[in-house]
Amino acid sequence: MTVFTTIPSLLVLYRIDHDLYEFNNRLAAVMKDQVAIENNITRLNTSLVELESAGRKLQATISSHELDMKSRQEHIEKMRTSLNNAKTNKEYSAILIQISAEKEEVSKIESIILDFMGQLEANLKSASAIREQLDVAQKSLEDSRRQSSQRVAELQAHIHELQRNRERALNAVPPESRKQYDRICQRYPGDAMASVDFNENDMETITCGGCFMGLNIEDVNLLRGRDEIRRCQSCGRILYLPEMLPQQASA
Ligand SMILES: [Zn+2]
Repeated sequence: MTVFTTIPSLLVLYRIDHDLYEFNNRLAAVMKDQVAIENNITRLNTSLVELESAGRKLQATISSHELDMKSRQEHIEKMRTSLNNAKTNKEYSAILIQISAEKEEVSKIESIILDFMGQLEANLKSASAIREQLDVAQKSLEDSRRQSSQRVAELQAHIHELQRNRERALNAVPPESRKQYDRICQRYPGDAMASVDFNENDMETITCGGCFMGLNIEDVNLLRGRDEIRRCQSCGRILYLPEMLPQQASA
């Protein structure tokens, strides 16, 4: 008599993976809001860092223009003093022309500074608006964490337990079958196996419980006779007979 280990051991693993997939999805659903808020916080922080850096650059530009303006104003004062020492009218009017040119420069720099100050003001305003948004987001993150902390802890505990069980179940599966199962799992996460659905009184209609396509009587016979993997030709899932399900397991 054939001893069946392949499909029964895979079924234990499959049930655990099925649950793991579902509980991970539940956890992801509970965490969805928090992840969205966290992403928003990251985005806001990035904007804030950029704004602050731009603000520092503006401030430095303003300072350097102010220094320039100050030295030009000092120059104007010096030239005014030297007016008194001018020896000829020609020299006097030459200094006047220089003063007027320098005054013009100063007034240009003044308007440049004003422009940069306007930009700096807008920058500071934006930064402060972002800080307010960050405060709001941080509070709603805390609220969301508080509200869901118990549910998250329960789900995580359950998932850890399933992962521990999975370790044991995986060791019971023959290595070659494990590889095949893993490959199919990548295609159908948590859903790598399918039942062969049929009625003993009507063996004309046999279908795959995964894709609902038709199967053959041969699929049933070979599954009953050989301890090996048999896959649905349509979807590729590993087939099992309902009678192979562990009796004690509940859905
Ligand atoms: Zn199928």
